Amino acid sequence: MLFAIWGPIVAVTCMARSYLAWRTARRPVEPALLSTEKRLMVATGLVAATMAVGPTWIVLHSDGYTRAFMLMVIISTMWGGALVQATVFTSTVAFTAANIPVWIVALVVSRSTSGTLGLAVIFFVTIGIAIDNTRRFGRYFTQSIKRQIELEKWDEKGRLLRMIDDMPVAVMTVDPSSFAITYANEPSKLLIKQIEHLLTIKADNLVGMSIDVFHRHPAHQRRILSDPANLPYSARIQLGPEVLDLKITAVTTSDGDYIGPMLTWALVTKEVEAENRIRQLAHYDTLTGLPNRTSFNDELERRLATPGNLAGLLYIDLDGFKLVNDTRGHGVGDMLLAEVAKRLRAVCSAPAMLVSRLGGDEFAVLLPHGNAEEAQAHAARIIEALSVNYDFGHGNIAIGASIGVALAPIHGETAQVLLARSDIALYAAKEAGKGNARLFTPEMEGRIQERVLLEAKLREALRTREGMFLFYQPIVSIETGEVTAREALVRWYHPSRGWIAPAEFVPVAEQSGLADALGSFVLETACREAATWTDRERIAVNISATQLGKGTLPDDVLAALVKSGLSPNRLEIEVTETALLDDEHDVIGDLRRIRALGVRVALDDFGTGYSSLAHLRAFPFDKIKIDGSFVKDAVSRPDCAAVVRAVAELGKRLGVTTVAEGVETLEQLDCLRNEGCMEVQGYFFGRPMPSQADAANVARLDQGAPNKTEFRKEVDNAEANSMEGASDDRRQATGRG
Ligand code: C2E
Ligand code: MG
Ligand code: MG
Repeated sequence: MLFAIWGPIVAVTCMARSYLAWRTARRPVEPALLSTEKRLMVATGLVAATMAVGPTWIVLHSDGYTRAFMLMVIISTMWGGALVQATVFTSTVAFTAANIPVWIVALVVSRSTSGTLGLAVIFFVTIGIAIDNTRRFGRYFTQSIKRQIELEKWDEKGRLLRMIDDMPVAVMTVDPSSFAITYANEPSKLLIKQIEHLLTIKADNLVGMSIDVFHRHPAHQRRILSDPANLPYSARIQLGPEVLDLKITAVTTSDGDYIGPMLTWALVTKEVEAENRIRQLAHYDTLTGLPNRTSFNDELERRLATPGNLAGLLYIDLDGFKLVNDTRGHGVGDMLLAEVAKRLRAVCSAPAMLVSRLGGDEFAVLLPHGNAEEAQAHAARIIEALSVNYDFGHGNIAIGASIGVALAPIHGETAQVLLARSDIALYAAKEAGKGNARLFTPEMEGRIQERVLLEAKLREALRTREGMFLFYQPIVSIETGEVTAREALVRWYHPSRGWIAPAEFVPVAEQSGLADALGSFVLETACREAATWTDRERIAVNISATQLGKGTLPDDVLAALVKSGLSPNRLEIEVTETALLDDEHDVIGDLRRIRALGVRVALDDFGTGYSSLAHLRAFPFDKIKIDGSFVKDAVSRPDCAAVVRAVAELGKRLGVTTVAEGVETLEQLDCLRNEGCMEVQGYFFGRPMPSQADAANVARLDQGAPNKTEFRKEVDNAEANSMEGASDDRRQATGRG
């Protein structure tokens, strides 16, 4: 009965085992299979051992014949089982050992009959042989599987190498234990050829060489290559002038086993150069090589970020650079900026000083202290250095510099505030005249806001031409007492401030690029109105220095003449000496072209500022206007009278008309006549007055204005005089008088 149950159980177990064996046989040979196989064998052994309970029971309860048959069955199944279990030693031992109780029971039950004993001997001998075989075979089996796995791995590597061969990038593989190059594809060899001169190896002998040749610190590289945990890894290797870009990745089998490192590399010298160039462009000014605004800001912020840090900021703006750039061309402008940078570097060579080009003709210097005196002394040294003439082989170029100074922490603790305040101080420096340095003061801030508003209003006024007027002041011949010309003087009525003097708003126009717009208004209006004058006197128009030297003024003059129909010999333009200082050559070129139109050219305010007789020789002026400051003192100061006399004599010798400005009294007039002046201009002969067309409009504005024009004063004077009945006939004082 038990045999009937045990038989089918054994059969089913065998079938299940066969099925599992069939399944594993289809799986690829891999380490996982080896362990599965082992588990399977051990399980089989244990099942078989458990099933030994059945034979034990049968042996115990059956007769001699059946027992003998059973023992024979056990021996044969043991053989079969040992064969099946052959790959796993422990499994075989368990399987065979499980049968030992059957034999003990059989020997006891049969009282060790010779038959049973014989069978037991056969059994134990065969067990010994089976176990020994299993031990050998198992070892062989494990080794062969491992070898096969190894082979598979190499096969995988082979496939990988074939794949690398076809790659368009340079790839090498390295043995992770010896660090020798095991493989290099064709692009690798080509790449090595390009840098062979920098290496101790040749492209053709690459395989087998140590990877150390590429690295200055091979130990570091070896450490990275030996452990896949360090990968992937990227590095830039500098080899002489060349740069290699290296990427190391770990090559593993499909189970994740580390085969070795794969090096993908490229020669990136050009890319690195481009990167450096981009970085350079982003942080440095290409023309001067100085750090640009971004870098300067960064450095300023960095220094200010440290609590208690002191800093001084010098904001530098070149005086007269724009004119050089416009008239001499950008090539000279660039050379000039480069030279300025060189001089700045020389003056600011202390290690903690930073010189930067903020843009255009603006530079900045960062000082490592917040000392006001030292900063101003340094600013003065910079102005001095930059004001020395420049010579690029086409004659001397003179520019200057104005500097605004702000200090940290007293004037600001952030880069933004400090820059803004040094800019405000720069503005004040410019206002004070060229070649100045100014330290920031809180009052400057209010003035700057005012100035910005003024500029906006002026721009608007010039666009709409609302509130813009020309007043005319007569110029009289001392000899005849007749008016020879009238000078056009611009006037501006500011919507809230009332009348603003040209001395205030003309410089604003000049500094904010509005000089040409203002100049056009004055030229057009003056020519148009003069064309209507019945006495046909000349009209004198003041020209800003910034209008000259650009080659545009002669065309503007011609256009105004054509448009108004005014004869060119009725137009006189007045230029100051400062116009000749910036770029004499081009200014004189413009003046010649204007003169060629038949227009007269006068030198205004002679004797002020840079007065130099050389200017009189440089251009054949038609008229010299002696500045009012000499006229004022000519009566009381012999030196002033001497200047007036010298200019008057020079005028006579050169055939140039001399005019004395600002004549207010009869004494002054007498003095000027004695010194030999030909013409006079001043309140004594008449204040600047609006044209007839504007008179009513100006009178209306005068009514509501906080300050009156000279027109109002003139009208008031005239009324007072007529009331007193004292008529001042100025004509008597001149000419035939
Ligand atoms: P400027 O060309 O030398 O003009 C003469 C200045 O002297 C005028 O001042 C005039 O009003 C003033 N003046 C005339 N006679 C006397 C006098 O007897 N005593 C005193 N104390 N002053 C007298 P204004 O109109 O204020 O002009 C000042 C300066 O502004 C001018 O000096 C000129 O350089 C500039 N300016 C005036 N109008 C224009 C213009 O349309 N364009 C340009 N670019 N500049 C102008
Ligand atoms: Mg003038
Ligand atoms: Mg003048």
